[in-house]
Amino acid sequence: MNNFKYILIIGNPIDGLKFEGPFEDFEEAEMHAEFQDDTWWIVNLRNPEEITPTCDICGKPDGAGVPDWNGETGNHASCETDAK
Ligand SMILES: [Zn+2]
Repeated sequence: MNNFKYILIIGNPIDGLKFEGPFEDFEEAEMHAEFQDDTWWIVNLRNPEEITPTCDICGKPDGAGVPDWNGETGNHASCETDAK
């Protein structure tokens, strides 16, 4: 399990951006950011597994072997039928 959840982005669109981290928590990234002269942002890293949409009804992810995915509601069509 990856506990590093934040990255620090430093710079601007003209000169370019630097990415530092990842950091375990927001405070740690912020401490690092205080030493920067440039504009900076702290961005929340997302786990690819969490980005995969999961069905609200059965909790299983979308993907292979799931032909009845309803893209509008983000659930399996079959689960929605069962839930009614
Ligand atoms: Zn489902």
